[in-house]
Amino acid sequence: MDEHTWLRTGTAILTEIKEWRRAHPTATFVEMEDEIHRRMMELEAQVLQDAAQASESQEWGQTPGQPAPTCPTCVVPLQARGQHQRTLQGNGGQSVTLNRTYGTCPTCQRSFFPPR
Ligand SMILES: [Zn+2]
Repeated sequence: MDEHTWLRTGTAILTEIKEWRRAHPTATFVEMEDEIHRRMMELEAQVLQDAAQASESQEWGQTPGQPAPTCPTCVVPLQARGQHQRTLQGNGGQSVTLNRTYGTCPTCQRSFFPPR
């Protein structure tokens, strides 16, 4: 999680909103609302991505003492299959890309992105 990046992004977005307002002096309340909402979503997507990524930093399968998640069906530890990118869709429609450790169950051979 990088708070400096968040602050930079937040400041940039606020500056953009101020500039947009200056360029659109006759904007209606609804237009302002839409514009501000759209820009705040960019910040939300970044904070969400960083926050979700931070919980992935203690990567199972590589960190000793970090127990592997288990298969929900067979209840045996998954085998780590390395990092794969996974794109999740946020509530506001913003997409967030995470690097997650992918695992395979040695018993049923199913593969998962275990939830963390
Ligand atoms: Zn299984």
